[in-house]
Amino acid sequence: MSDFVELQWKRNRGWPWPEDSYGLTPMYGEDGWCHSCGVPKRHQCGSLVLQHKGKTRFTGAWVPNWQFDVICLERPLADEIGRRFDVELREVAWHGGVGGGEASQIVPRRTDEPWFDHDELRASAEERHGVAGKTCPECGVWRWMPLGFGFGLPPLRLDLADQAGDVIASPEWFGDGWNAFRVLLVRRELAELIADGSPRDAKVNKVV
Ligand SMILES: [Zn+2]
Repeated sequence: MSDFVELQWKRNRGWPWPEDSYGLTPMYGEDGWCHSCGVPKRHQCGSLVLQHKGKTRFTGAWVPNWQFDVICLERPLADEIGRRFDVELREVAWHGGVGGGEASQIVPRRTDEPWFDHDELRASAEERHGVAGKTCPECGVWRWMPLGFGFGLPPLRLDLADQAGDVIASPEWFGDGWNAFRVLLVRRELAELIADGSPRDAKVNKVV
């Protein structure tokens, strides 16, 4: 039996900076992401920069707008997770140096083998969106139209018993326009810790 689950996010908190790159340039470098589709070309090498504006409170765990596969953690929670789990953590930076509390983000571990049967993915995406996806004319990456667990994703084909790391990302990219994301799975114990700490943000979903 697999002990990986999905963390389903009920809301987003905070806006990455600069807005004209959806926050991608500080995370991947100016030339480290495709300016046509928003898919990164390398492993994350810099900090997510968040803006402290409005009444947003950065407590517990949350996912910002635009970067939907970036899980942010307030400092005490990040420290505990860093001690107990096999995750790569990277500090979150704050635009203008004005912080809403120190925080880190989880950098998911990308797996190489496909998570889904691509014929099933194609059929499901076409049924929901009319088209399966498209290849970016600039970087050549294929993105499937947006799907999620319980929202059109076919059964997982990945052998979960075999996975290293506690937060893993699919090799498949999804999205439309500048929206680009991967599917994430989180080790159950870690997902429960995050959802218990931020019940208004996250809930645990069984996936298999
Ligand atoms: Zn592209």
